[in-house]
Amino acid sequence: MDITASLMTRPGEPLETVTLQLADPRPDEVLVRLAATGICASDAHTHSGRIPSPAPCVLGHEGAGVVERVGSAVTTVTEGDHVALSWMPNCGTCRHCVSGRPVLCTAAAPALFAGTLLDGTTRLSRDGAPVSHYSFLSTFATHCVVPASSAIPVGPGVPLAVAALVGCGVLTGYGAVVNRARVHPGSSVVIFGAGGVGLSAVMAARISGAEQILVCDPVVGKLEEALSFGATHALLPDDGLVERVRDLTGGGADYAIDAAGSDGVLDRAFAATVAGGTIVCVGLPGVHARPSLPGPELVRSEKIITGSLYGSSRPSVDIPAILRRYSAGHLPLDRLITRTYPLDGIDRAFADMREGRLRRGVVVFDEALAGLRGAADSALVAA
Ligand SMILES: [Zn+2]
Ligand SMILES: [Zn+2]
Repeated sequence: MDITASLMTRPGEPLETVTLQLADPRPDEVLVRLAATGICASDAHTHSGRIPSPAPCVLGHEGAGVVERVGSAVTTVTEGDHVALSWMPNCGTCRHCVSGRPVLCTAAAPALFAGTLLDGTTRLSRDGAPVSHYSFLSTFATHCVVPASSAIPVGPGVPLAVAALVGCGVLTGYGAVVNRARVHPGSSVVIFGAGGVGLSAVMAARISGAEQILVCDPVVGKLEEALSFGATHALLPDDGLVERVRDLTGGGADYAIDAAGSDGVLDRAFAATVAGGTIVCVGLPGVHARPSLPGPELVRSEKIITGSLYGSSRPSVDIPAILRRYSAGHLPLDRLITRTYPLDGIDRAFADMREGRLRRGVVVFDEALAGLRGAADSALVAA
């Protein structure tokens, strides 16, 4: 079938809105009509070349929509189901899948980097020439074909713009706090970066019962937003930062979440954490980043430094659970959406993101299903 998609011909070039061909889903795949897609920092970093990826490709990995067709072997969803999309499908049989860590699936990782679906081929093409997928999804398009394990049913009552965000940014920040750090009630958490992932970490720390939630970001406006999402302290990353975190938390935070991935943040997160504390690295650094740490102190302080990919989640369990907490009023996820864009406005969204103007930008394909109108307490600003 023909679809309309935003095509990245090569990194750095403006995106082009074009007609592409999308092949039918294979037996274990699903065709989805997108209702909304979030625009994530990873899309922007891939477009700028910071994250290497095959091209030409269709970016976008934070989407939700309606199942239009399923392959002959698919049993988990059926036509008409509303689904959030997980950018990390899983085979269900490798050592990581069977041990409950499906985002580390050894079958999915090579295809992720190759820009294909799980069988090593693409469904996207332009006049006969293959076009790469991005993170199995390619949601900057009216339709996508995805592995069945990437299509997570969410029930008909959920605004699909919110479900889209849960498919990457929300799950990444929330899961870093809930699944990886396992933040305890009464504890202190310092979060570096107040974008969509950082704010999701703030919300998760709040409902986990953290007593102190300190947020550090160079943009004053983002700090004010973090306070409105439940942060207790807002800090600029100046020379006195580590000292202030230590003062405020009585010797160091119990947990640090690096939702920025920028140079120097891990050093500060390490220094701002109390002995025995946990530092979770979420933001993806540049490919050549080689952070260094004070070796003796690492031993003597017994601090734990860990990465967290995609919220260390089990997407098929965690995405519906987060959406239930949203529906119950515990997570104001719709407030993450600052602005909507047409499909041909994603370059503008990347620029707005660079300038710190967005919590989350969203492309809406189907207004009714996206459900932004009437969203409670929404800070939505139409483009
Ligand atoms: Zn993302
Ligand atoms: Zn697996």
